[in-house]
Amino acid sequence: MKRILVTGGLGFIGSNFIRMMLEEHPDITITNLDAVTYAGNPANLKDIENEPGYSFTRGDICDRDLVFSVLDRQNIDTIVHFAAESHVDRSIEDSSVFVRTNVLGTQVLLESALKCGVERFVHISTDEVYGSTPDGSFSETDNLAPSSPYSASKAGSDLLALSYHKTHGLPVIVTRCTNNFGPYQYPEKLIPLFTTNLVDGKKVPVYGSGKNVRDWIYVLDHNRAVDFILENGSPGEIYNISSGNELNNLEITGTILSLLGMDESMIEYVADRPGHDWRYSLDSTKLRSMGWRPEYDFETAMRETVSWYRENEWWWRPLKR
Ligand code: NAD
Repeated sequence: MKRILVTGGLGFIGSNFIRMMLEEHPDITITNLDAVTYAGNPANLKDIENEPGYSFTRGDICDRDLVFSVLDRQNIDTIVHFAAESHVDRSIEDSSVFVRTNVLGTQVLLESALKCGVERFVHISTDEVYGSTPDGSFSETDNLAPSSPYSASKAGSDLLALSYHKTHGLPVIVTRCTNNFGPYQYPEKLIPLFTTNLVDGKKVPVYGSGKNVRDWIYVLDHNRAVDFILENGSPGEIYNISSGNELNNLEITGTILSLLGMDESMIEYVADRPGHDWRYSLDSTKLRSMGWRPEYDFETAMRETVSWYRENEWWWRPLKR
């Protein structure tokens, strides 16, 4: 039996991860440690909050005493660390909370994991740590060249996590995934922001030329990869996770517009984001050669995602600024 601590489990990816893990692994227990920031939403797990095997602790990953006592008292053997400040635009406005949560919070977790003899520590990271490339795809051995304070704080936390493996032998694994989409994503990120704006008859703000490229992955494909890595990954390793759906922002916007029966007149071009990376692309050959594959067809997953936001206005309406 695995006793798993999930951090940031009230956020977008973490909440989808907890729901999937409890459905697919009846023998595990999950403790969700989340500070309930603006992005942490108890409604994300309302449907499973009373499930046997699930418990929630409200708290900050930077709180050493709290983190130690959760790990120790609950005899945690596995940590899956999603908690982070995650929105690039916010990191441009004020990076301090990004450094605090993403770097210091990760350090507190690593140190406590070491003291408590945790057997697996999966640190969830992002393609953004490699920076931008006009062509080709980054592999796990490429150098890090983050552009935004967000991605720099994630790169810092990745290196810290790996250092705990090299220095102390802590069984750390780092995963780096591309842009996720799916249900329960805070409506400041492109797909839920644009979908909910359009449902309200509002235009959608496209940065710059709209030609920046991202590789989009359905959140359940990301989460299945994390589950696969929990079982099959090796300590000290980095695994890229990607599905190969590279689209520029105008193309993804066009997909949402057509699913909602609207046209390009709903696009409003706005000043580009400072330091806006042109293209992210990951090579996930390492993970695929171990047997992982993305399962969801992009068009189907996008259709289901847009339908989910249309049908779950109760969820996003209170979050719109
Ligand atoms: P999110 O912003 O939706 O959720 C973050 C969660 O962390 C929230 O529930 C929040 O309350 C919690 N949190 C923040 N600060 C905390 C603190 N100090 N202590 C405890 N909890 C805290 O983020 P997300 O999109 O679900 O991303 C989860 C992880 O995946 C992040 O580490 C992110 O870097 C990584 N990631 C995200 C994407 C993506 O496309 N969203 C892609 C690759 C990697």
